[in-house]
Amino acid sequence: MHFAIEKQERTTAELYGHLSRLEHPVHYTPERCERIHEQIQEIRRLKKERNAVLLAHNYQRPEVFEVADFIGDSLELARQASEVEVDVIVFCGVHFMAETAKILNPEKTVLLPDLRAGCSLADSVNADSLADRKEALRKLYPDLGVVSYVNTTAEVKAESDVCCTSSNAVKIVERLPHRHILFVPDENLAAYVQQQTDKTIISWDGNCYVHHQITRDQIAAVKKNLPHVKVLAHPECRADVLELADAVLSTSGMVQYAKQSDASEFLIVTECGLSDRLLLEAPEKKFYKACKLCQYMKMITLEATLQSLRVMRHEITLPEDVRQRAEKALRKMFALS
Ligand code: SF4
Repeated sequence: MHFAIEKQERTTAELYGHLSRLEHPVHYTPERCERIHEQIQEIRRLKKERNAVLLAHNYQRPEVFEVADFIGDSLELARQASEVEVDVIVFCGVHFMAETAKILNPEKTVLLPDLRAGCSLADSVNADSLADRKEALRKLYPDLGVVSYVNTTAEVKAESDVCCTSSNAVKIVERLPHRHILFVPDENLAAYVQQQTDKTIISWDGNCYVHHQITRDQIAAVKKNLPHVKVLAHPECRADVLELADAVLSTSGMVQYAKQSDASEFLIVTECGLSDRLLLEAPEKKFYKACKLCQYMKMITLEATLQSLRVMRHEITLPEDVRQRAEKALRKMFALS
């Protein structure tokens, strides 16, 4: 599913009215909104001049959503980018996401506004250690298949048989011919998949620091006080947290579920940016945040995005052989899902 945004041009006052609905209005003063408004105008002008599209991940800052042409999860955005006729993609997300956009759009210039926007999960595996582990495990399990979550570098994707997302991971594992699967790098997603397949899942020792720090006790405390809320949790959370969820969903799955559900109050168990998006897009419903901020996602600011478009920085480049092998793993996922 893609989220194409029909952007209305808001005045400064409308922008303030819109952003101050969030639970941290202290950050969105009228003065700040005036500055944001100026930056939005300039980004829109530069997007036209550069023939650029701006993609924003669900965890981005609310003011970044204002200039986004598409909002979604990383893979939706990368696929969306291949369907639009533009020269430049500005990826407001983290490094592996911009790489994925480049893998699928080699002829386009892909910009990441701030190179410090990394990812603890993607950093937990590199291509050399994966190649070593694969070799060792294939001596024990000759049929071993390697499935890498999209939250990995291009080099790791290139070492993998196929990629997966949090929403198609079970389906991908089930449709592979291999009985033994090395699943990298998220141990929590691996455990979630293992619960739903008879195949043997061998997990990598990695996790997303944002989701891994959310505890069962925190969720149980909210449920005790607010027993009527629907709990939506991301599969990167620990298994004992997922046990308390009404639905285990990807970020885009949560958006769809919350908008379509008859329920009106939700506890959103993932990064805080998604709760902000839901608060702004479904104002008639109530969203509680059992979430943490991702420091990497929040590296991307409107100012950095503006500078990125102004001087065309920071361009993502990949060795062509790595790009092609990574693309093969991604295309195999599309074919299987
Ligand atoms: S939320 Fe977790 S997986 Fe996503 S970018 Fe941040 S550290 Fe990486």
